[in-house]
Amino acid sequence: MSIKPYTNEPFTNFTIEANRKALETAIAKTKNKLGQVYPLHIGAELIFTKAQITSINPGNVDEIIGYVSKADTNLAEKAMSVALETFESWKKVPAAERAAYLLKAAALMRARKHEFSALMILESGKNYVEADVDTAEAIDFIEFYAREMIRLSEINETHPLVKIPGENNQISYIPLGVGVIIPPWNFPLAICVGMTVSAVVAGNTVLLKPASTTPVIAHKFVALMQEAGLPPGVINYIPGSGAEVGDYLTTHPKTRFISFTGSKEIGLRINKLAADPVPGQIWIKRVIAEMGGKDGIVVDETADLDAAAAAIVASAFGFQGQKCSAGSRAIVVETVYDELVKKVVALTEGLQVGLPELNYASGPVIDKASYEKVLAYIEIGKQEGTLLTGGGKAEGNGYYIQPTIFGDVPAGAQIMQEEIFGPVLAIAKASDWRKAIEIYNDTEFGLTGSYFSTDQARIAEALDSMHCGNLYINRKCTGALVGVHPFGGFNMSGTDSKAGGYDYLLLLTQAKLTSRKM
Ligand code: GLU
Repeated sequence: MSIKPYTNEPFTNFTIEANRKALETAIAKTKNKLGQVYPLHIGAELIFTKAQITSINPGNVDEIIGYVSKADTNLAEKAMSVALETFESWKKVPAAERAAYLLKAAALMRARKHEFSALMILESGKNYVEADVDTAEAIDFIEFYAREMIRLSEINETHPLVKIPGENNQISYIPLGVGVIIPPWNFPLAICVGMTVSAVVAGNTVLLKPASTTPVIAHKFVALMQEAGLPPGVINYIPGSGAEVGDYLTTHPKTRFISFTGSKEIGLRINKLAADPVPGQIWIKRVIAEMGGKDGIVVDETADLDAAAAAIVASAFGFQGQKCSAGSRAIVVETVYDELVKKVVALTEGLQVGLPELNYASGPVIDKASYEKVLAYIEIGKQEGTLLTGGGKAEGNGYYIQPTIFGDVPAGAQIMQEEIFGPVLAIAKASDWRKAIEIYNDTEFGLTGSYFSTDQARIAEALDSMHCGNLYINRKCTGALVGVHPFGGFNMSGTDSKAGGYDYLLLLTQAKLTSRKM
């Protein structure tokens, strides 16, 4: 079968009336079907439990998105045994066949794009563009990893090992085993899909424990994979509590790897728990962890200030700052500080806060815990810097917070150091561009960063000295594209697993060398 070369899924242009209408229709249809009860998927079995997770709309907290069955340790154990058994057959399915399931799923998702976006708008509080980009990225991950697996399976032909006389040497990338997939809620489709299909196309079977705030969209993906014909037991869907099911599976002797995206605290906990071998375990568990960020945009006095201001606002407040790539810091050279800050504040004050389904620029944060945490950081910010705009709750029947900016924030301040994961931007003033880069680097994280300048020598130095996994010049620090900007960070941002890159499937496979005497 010949597969056309990978290209990114185009984004929908919502300034075109017909596109906007199509999404609005999908939202209306989705709203008619809210409040259903969703089962666990363990092998071919659909299991409804008494215990449930209630998923609500963070933008309208009285609206219930769905009731999702909840696994306990017994059901997690059952899922593990099904996944182990299924692994024995799934690992033998040729790579191209595994990839074909993905390509089928990508086509199905593309055909129903707006359905997926609509559900995310309601369940996670994304606006139209943010939801559409999330769905497009999910399609990209499926298409990209399908081709990546095929490429790896053909590596002996395309990149043969060094030949010596009398031997036939081959390398193959074989799967690891059963993996636990713990995705985040902030890209509730794209990252959930990317983490799951990469593991599966590599020949592993998985236990997918979706984020508890966005389990319904994860279920929709699982149902799609079923529709694409993926054999039962390859993806097992087991929502549950992190403390119960997450810890149980992380410490399970048969867990071969854990793929996690989320906070630093939980990532470190998983890493620690996974490191300790338990009786019956015969491998070192692999941990792939994509954790937090305290990303920043550095602006020098030669920069295009309008472009820099627009990028700062997009990076800080896109999806209410709930991205690990969010530019929650801006570090500005003092000679242009006042001028730039004025522009940033003006653009931010133009962001209207309101209901995601009505496509307000700024929606709610994800849940009550997050709402309280962000508001507490805003109070800390009032002690640490000068409040320039926002500063508290916003109107609405949900977790709405005003886009908030603090100026003149010292480099060591808590709001310059800790990941807030909300619509809060801290701006620092630097005496010169080198000092600005120094402040940028003064963090335990290292995920994304941007440098705005028109000076080529400084850009060259910034490229070299800004220490992060995804460094951008004269553009925003969010919005990595699959295959174009492999995504992952340094230091406390994680294991630098580059999602959407050529190295990613190596993390989910082990290389077996076979040498045959001729
Ligand atoms: N890949 C996303 C971006 O580049 C961020 C992913 C995340 O927040 O986890 O904006």
